[in-house]
Amino acid sequence: MALEDSIRHHIQHNGPMNIATFMGQVVSYYYNSRDPFGADGDFTTAPEVSQMFGELLGAWVADCWMQIGQPANFMLVECGPGRGTLMADALRATKQVPGFHEAAQIHLIEMSDVLKEKQKLAIEGFAVEWHDSLETLPEGVPLILLANEFLDALPIRQFQFADGQWQERVVGLNGSEKLHLGLAPALDGPSDFASEGDVKEVSQAVQSFVSDVCERLKKQGGTALFIDYGYTQGHGHGDTLQALKKHRFVDVLENIGEADLTAHVDFGALAVAEKGLGVFGPIEQGPFLQKLGISQRAAMLKQNANEKQGDDIDAALKRLTAPNEMGALFKVLAFASDNIHPAGF
Ligand code: SAH
Repeated sequence: MALEDSIRHHIQHNGPMNIATFMGQVVSYYYNSRDPFGADGDFTTAPEVSQMFGELLGAWVADCWMQIGQPANFMLVECGPGRGTLMADALRATKQVPGFHEAAQIHLIEMSDVLKEKQKLAIEGFAVEWHDSLETLPEGVPLILLANEFLDALPIRQFQFADGQWQERVVGLNGSEKLHLGLAPALDGPSDFASEGDVKEVSQAVQSFVSDVCERLKKQGGTALFIDYGYTQGHGHGDTLQALKKHRFVDVLENIGEADLTAHVDFGALAVAEKGLGVFGPIEQGPFLQKLGISQRAAMLKQNANEKQGDDIDAALKRLTAPNEMGALFKVLAFASDNIHPAGF
């Protein structure tokens, strides 16, 4: 309730706020006040479904490092590491790669103090540096960056076509001082194919985060891998703002700060040519993980598993790769410097 009161107060004093401002405040409050993952939480992510996900990404990172020429120092960066599970699995899977652990400086970009504590425990024994944003990452060494379900948490703006023009969706107050969605005249965009009620989304936060990563890759060398739910064909996907509470969709204005508020990522807009970098994908998560060898990894794990564990491994494999589960909705996009060809594409 504290968050809703503070947002109401803000609107009373400053007028309606756009969705980006609203989302920024809600997401920050949400992640700073809980660990939201798993069966008892609000949602589950790929690294929490199975150790195979982080293990394969660990192998992906090690392969990139070899393609860069096995530099004696590089930054292994993860954005929004959650419980630290992906990084822990990736590090365990790469233990045997000669020189790799010695070369990796681990940098985590995380805004939640609650989750930083979890990450500290998960990655015990490694020297780790935390950052609030990309800006404070060191310069001068190559980087290999991972981001799973990070971009979807960054703020979006929404526009709705109404009365012959694009208007920005804003959160205001209704007659009884309750939060409600309204419109503010805004965008002089082309409206050729728009019809009344259409919604489109733009994320300056996502665009500028990815373009900052690309600038780093151009200067420092390396690779970046973004995995998230999203679409590949430009606009026209309508309203993708969603709130998940206890694994169910809830109204985005109900229980604010108590549900995970995200938007689908516009991979079509991100996968543009970056001068001096290779762009790989977006492709679907299922084929990507298959190419990295997830079926072989599952078969190996099953050799030392009892029947129940074997069934769990099969279920996780299906969950991560089947087109009607996470395999098609989730997309994978990579950027790479210096003619590196990242695995899986
Ligand atoms: N990658 C993890 C967690 C995904 S949830 C997994 O796959 O399980 C999103 C993560 O991003 C959380 O760790 C959250 O605290 C972090 N996060 C969200 N917005 C952020 C921001 N603007 N800056 C830094 N971290 C952020």
